[in-house]
Amino acid sequence: MCDRPSHINERRSFLRLAAISAGATMLAGTLPSLAHAMPSPKPANDLNPQQALTRLMAGNQRYAEGVTKRHDFMSERELLAGGQNPFVAILSCADSRIAPEYAFDTALGDLFAVRVAGNFVTDEGLASLEYAVAVLGTPLILVLGHDSCGAIAAGVKAVKDNARFPGKIQGLADTFKPSVNKVLKAPGDLLENAIAQNVTDTVMRLKAESSLLADAVSAGKLQIVGGVYKLRSGNVKLIG
Ligand SMILES: [Zn+2]
Repeated sequence: MCDRPSHINERRSFLRLAAISAGATMLAGTLPSLAHAMPSPKPANDLNPQQALTRLMAGNQRYAEGVTKRHDFMSERELLAGGQNPFVAILSCADSRIAPEYAFDTALGDLFAVRVAGNFVTDEGLASLEYAVAVLGTPLILVLGHDSCGAIAAGVKAVKDNARFPGKIQGLADTFKPSVNKVLKAPGDLLENAIAQNVTDTVMRLKAESSLLADAVSAGKLQIVGGVYKLRSGNVKLIG
């Protein structure tokens, strides 16, 4: 993770933490002027949750239709050297066929990515997302699954066939068993249903296991949504 490096940005980060922490309300109140004193590296990223979601899905539409914007990485690097204010954080699978920054036609500093096979909640991933929300002010989290996910397929095999996997892969496959079991008797394709269920369960877990995220949602500062990326079309369908 790249912290805002200066003492100024640290103060701004502190204020953002304070703003969504009930216990720190008094501290935030003592330094209100600083909250507005520091310009965001990308003012266009200072969005409310609904604006962020609208922008995110518009970017996916451009990507799916092959009309993505041209990005000037040289000037963006310079702009962002002192800080970041991404408008979305994405918990996605590690699958090489998905690149969240491409899939939503985002530039540097727009999208905070946490990736792990099967896009599920780990302590470190959750901490990363809390950082994005509390310190960087990100108003939107998207949990992004995808069709033909090998990690979820391993979970399905672990449930249906009692399959065994080498190394740490077994533990990964076991992680998805509760989601697979929920849709075991549901109509339709089991893998497809399990992928969607895992996304839904992950969204719920983010809210249930992080009071920081739950408080931000309650305060209207954060929205947490789920979606499934279609490998062939590039379209993301929001679910749940
Ligand atoms: Zn996957």
